[in-house]
Amino acid sequence: MSNNLVLRHRIPADANTFYHATIDPSSNFDALKGELQTDVCVVGGGLTGVSAALNLAKKGLSVALLEAQKIGCGASGRNGGHTANGFGSDLGVLEDILGLENTRILWQMVDSALGEIDENIHNYNINCDRSFGYIYAANNSYQLRELEILHNRLRTKYNYEQTTLLEKCDLDKLVKTTRYTGALFDKTCGQINPFKYLLGLTQQLKEMNVRVFEQSPALLISQTPDISVHTREGCIKPKYVFLAGNAYLISDNAQLVSKSIPVTSFIGVTSPLSAALIQSTLPGNITIADCNKIPDYYQITNGGRMLFGCGVNFLGKEPNNMKQIIEKRVKRLFPQLTAFELDYTWSGLISSTINKLPHIGQINSQIYYAQGFSGHGLVLSGLIGKLISEAITGNSIGFDLISSIAHRTFPPKPIKNITLGVAECFNKLRQQL
Ligand SMILES: Cc1cc2nc3c(=O)[nH]c(=O)nc-3n(C[C@H](O)[C@H](O)[C@H](O)COP(=O)(O)OP(=O)(O)OC[C@H]3O[C@@H](n4cnc5c(N)ncnc54)[C@H](O)[C@@H]3O)c2cc1C
Repeated sequence: MSNNLVLRHRIPADANTFYHATIDPSSNFDALKGELQTDVCVVGGGLTGVSAALNLAKKGLSVALLEAQKIGCGASGRNGGHTANGFGSDLGVLEDILGLENTRILWQMVDSALGEIDENIHNYNINCDRSFGYIYAANNSYQLRELEILHNRLRTKYNYEQTTLLEKCDLDKLVKTTRYTGALFDKTCGQINPFKYLLGLTQQLKEMNVRVFEQSPALLISQTPDISVHTREGCIKPKYVFLAGNAYLISDNAQLVSKSIPVTSFIGVTSPLSAALIQSTLPGNITIADCNKIPDYYQITNGGRMLFGCGVNFLGKEPNNMKQIIEKRVKRLFPQLTAFELDYTWSGLISSTINKLPHIGQINSQIYYAQGFSGHGLVLSGLIGKLISEAITGNSIGFDLISSIAHRTFPPKPIKNITLGVAECFNKLRQQL
């Protein structure tokens, strides 16, 4: 078997995002040219890679980060900005896999990672439009019952007291739609502008002398006998590599390819809404996701626009009618919003696993990877970046816990394509409703 690992990257869809319009685009990093020796080479300039690099640099290691295109061009610069606690799957699923004690430890870690976002914002003076208050909205009585179970589970088993159940009459004061039957409110979760947050962390990397390279896709990792990561015009010789390309990384490693798939999700941002329109739709200034398997998720941004995420494409494609799909979902929830423009629409790739839990591990003693945050990566990326840095420096307790989560394998290509094609047909039918 070859010791080489061949890498490529998926080209992100156009970055015409609301977030990109909120920042000064002038900051660039050079491409890698020539040879460099470091302790660690991080592949991928999203929140996971940047967070790992930051934590490694804090521990005194020399780090180089390779980004195929631009920092934040992947999911981290184009997501919904929801800082939600927990995982893409129910806590019950995790308890079945890891047992209650380990799930408690993991919940505690994720909760701390949520807090660390605010520590970073404070310590590094990052202006990223942070706001608190989060609602999980139930579309029917079954979902409401599930939220009640979650609320009780969090209190009794996890000692977590940040949630409150909202009856429909309380919810009506915060969200003006007839669609929901009730909700769970979490006061510590909320929203940020993820791109501004990522660029704030990246600025910190500069100050800690981490070498960041853009337009520098990692193409090959060779191990003959020493490890080296090759780009078009350069090469890094590290002791360790961390593959943090997530849904945007393509590799020939079966372990990575078989456990997750790239799924497209879409977001639209309206033109600024008048105070009256905000009052008639989202007067509570709360960030919201519903409890459907493919949720609607939305909020009012800094500047009074509605950011609305919805829909997926299981084949990882951006549909031609993305704008119409988003408009339809907004109008379905808020028919009172009779006239609005979507100033921005874009899509991004989510790396999804079968059990919706993160897939992290090692290809060998020197190469680590992380993927599959299943739409829940804003908080998990910080946690996992930190755990990888700990594992590389000799404390692998947290890393071992998450990497022990067993993942089912997607079927091989022809069957996988047929299955995803069928799933996409059902998905399209749902989008007609
Ligand atoms: C539309 C959308 C909405 C979302 N909403 C939310 C949300 O509201 N809340 C939440 O918690 N999560 C959300 N997510 C998920 C979240 O954004 C991701 O889990 C998280 O950003 C993943 O970060 P990452 O750094 O691992 O990956 P990414 O941010 O995707 O970064 C990976 C980077 O690696 C680079 N790369 C890939 N291959 C190579 C290579 N060979 N060489 C060099 N570089 C390479 C890519 O160019 C990319 O920049 C959403 C995702 C999407 C797409």
